[in-house]
Amino acid sequence: MQISYSFDSGIAGKHILILWSIHGDEVCGSMAIERLREDIIQWNITLISGKITCIPYANYEAYREKKRQITHNLNRIFWQDEQWGIHDTARYIESLILQSDFVLDLHSFSAWKEAFIFNDYNTEEVNTIIHSIPIEHVMIWWTELYTWLQELDTIGFAKKNNIPGITIECWQNEDSQSIDTAYACIFSALKSYNIIKEWENVLHKNQIWISVDTIIRKQEDFIFINAWKNFDPIEKDEIIWKNLISHKSISSPYTWLIIMPNSSVENWWEWCYLWKIITNP
Ligand SMILES: [Zn+2]
Repeated sequence: MQISYSFDSGIAGKHILILWSIHGDEVCGSMAIERLREDIIQWNITLISGKITCIPYANYEAYREKKRQITHNLNRIFWQDEQWGIHDTARYIESLILQSDFVLDLHSFSAWKEAFIFNDYNTEEVNTIIHSIPIEHVMIWWTELYTWLQELDTIGFAKKNNIPGITIECWQNEDSQSIDTAYACIFSALKSYNIIKEWENVLHKNQIWISVDTIIRKQEDFIFINAWKNFDPIEKDEIIWKNLISHKSISSPYTWLIIMPNSSVENWWEWCYLWKIITNP
């Protein structure tokens, strides 16, 4: 099953696709779309051009079970041919992406706070929208990590089809802050494309732009030596993790930020990412 909302101004303009719950346990953020729907129905927001398509519960089966995924990570199976189960959902979302002018894919965390934005384009159009979003951290070139693995996410698929888009990690699951952050992101994007004119005053934030570097997959018997938090800085030669059996420690060859450390993943899943700060525009 799939639930979608469509809002059409009836006036020529951009078509924006908003996705949530690609990961089914990132449930609270879907409420931002419900809030948008309510505001449009109640005439608190008026569309002045273009149209909006919203998929608030993209991985509906996982959403109902409050799980990240049931069989596959929906955000790693784009640009493929399979047509069964969750792959069918990916093909459906691909068809919506191909009909849109801009894709906003909203996620939230299980473990950390601190929202951040993925910028996989670095074009004037996408950078303008990102600068209008009140989120401090911006990650550049995420999709480059996955392109060669043929594990494309929503925005990787959009990019292959020359359609701009942004993925945003809005805040922690179950925290009302994530709904407010998501709502501000939706507003910023719709305002940038001249789809709405009403605008809540949001605090502009100075942004820190960070370049993707390395995916770290969990290896058997390795553990983090600290309860790392998202965006913790790691100094050169600092020990990051160790082997429980051999007691061998691995220290960092560079100064990095550790991103999305997740100590509870299974072996060979993404354990964390390491990134370097490159600009501060
Ligand atoms: Zn997610």
